[in-house]
Amino acid sequence: METLALFGMEMAELTERMAALGQKPYRARQVFEALYRQRVATLEEITTLPVALREDLKAQGFVVGLPEIVQTAKSVDGTERYLVRLDDGETVETVWMPGGDGGERGDGSEAAIEEEGEDGDPTDAVEIRTHVSAPSKNKYGGSSPSAQNDNLKEGDGYKRATICISSQVGCAVNCQFCLTAKLGIRRNLTSGEIAGQVAAVLNRQRVRIGSGRGVETPSRINLVFMGMGEPFLNYDAFMGSVHVLRAMGIPESRMTVSTSGIEPSIRRFAEEPVRPKLALSLNASNDVVRESIMPVTRKWNIAMLLDAVRSIPLGKREYVTFEYVLLGGVNDQPEHAREVLALLSGMKAKVNLIVWNPGPGIDFKQPAPEDVAVFHRMLIDGEIPTFTRRPRGRDIFAACGQLKRTVEPGLVEISRAAV
Ligand code: SF4
Repeated sequence: METLALFGMEMAELTERMAALGQKPYRARQVFEALYRQRVATLEEITTLPVALREDLKAQGFVVGLPEIVQTAKSVDGTERYLVRLDDGETVETVWMPGGDGGERGDGSEAAIEEEGEDGDPTDAVEIRTHVSAPSKNKYGGSSPSAQNDNLKEGDGYKRATICISSQVGCAVNCQFCLTAKLGIRRNLTSGEIAGQVAAVLNRQRVRIGSGRGVETPSRINLVFMGMGEPFLNYDAFMGSVHVLRAMGIPESRMTVSTSGIEPSIRRFAEEPVRPKLALSLNASNDVVRESIMPVTRKWNIAMLLDAVRSIPLGKREYVTFEYVLLGGVNDQPEHAREVLALLSGMKAKVNLIVWNPGPGIDFKQPAPEDVAVFHRMLIDGEIPTFTRRPRGRDIFAACGQLKRTVEPGLVEISRAAV
């Protein structure tokens, strides 16, 4: 019998499903509460429903349908990378970064302000600082390196963490520096499968969210749609997952979606009444370089993308993030920094510089530390808030652009840990 996952259904659909079983709307609310507030994993755990109704649901093929973590690897920096199995046996990767990944800094959001307030430093140059002659400051001020793990309270839940989630099995966009691209696209995830990764990880980490009974130290969880896949090529499921995640108690202001630049979806996104923050994966300062590393540029060039981004009505404190993976000798020279400044001039933009993380079978060089420092400094001097992201989980291939399903033989080897 075909199974039907309840996780991912919004209230309207649950109400319809319950009505089809002859049940009143309050039963849908009970299921909703159990799925998204209590994050139950099985029908048996929905104890607010009578046993007979649970049996009925089971007989109709309903399951909770949370994805399952089947393999995990833990980095020395606390980052955990999970292989998550979906109902049909396909797998994606999800990454847990205790202490956050610093990606929110400087974007003006509530999460950023809290993060900056806690650490006293929005420049987020933890690893890079070892190479940079002087820590950069920008208009947000601050100078001491952040102690990202200081606020963890093991055994008592996490105060702050970021989860990086996947939206597709593989990816069709074919960015030349990315391991996921090697898979090609296998399928889209459903909204339940996208949000379900978060539920599975929160359950594993025993994270409490919200202010329900018994919750003394609610955790602050930030989400980044930056795992495997291009969320804007799976737009409806992505936006559906945003609604589910909000039902789980995570506000959209704590979510950031990253796109390689799917122009029509950026325009749709601009119209959404409720939406996460946007990050555009720019990665080049002109179309020639961008086309060579991101073939998607042939369809939508930089000018088209920036035009679409400008159509987003930004909140008072909101910035658009431009992600820029620095590839040695390709896009990391002073002339590139000057072009980036010209492109972003007059925009409410911040830049996250990401030092490219090597991956097997990918033929790029890491940028020289001094080139990273000069690039960073030039953008700051041009008054663009700029942050050099510290790589997380590089030793377990969980850093940016390194996500590749570990079940694929030969490319990535990680140690298996007990799940
Ligand atoms: S960087 Fe993102 S959009 Fe580009 S191939 Fe990788 S997963 Fe796809």
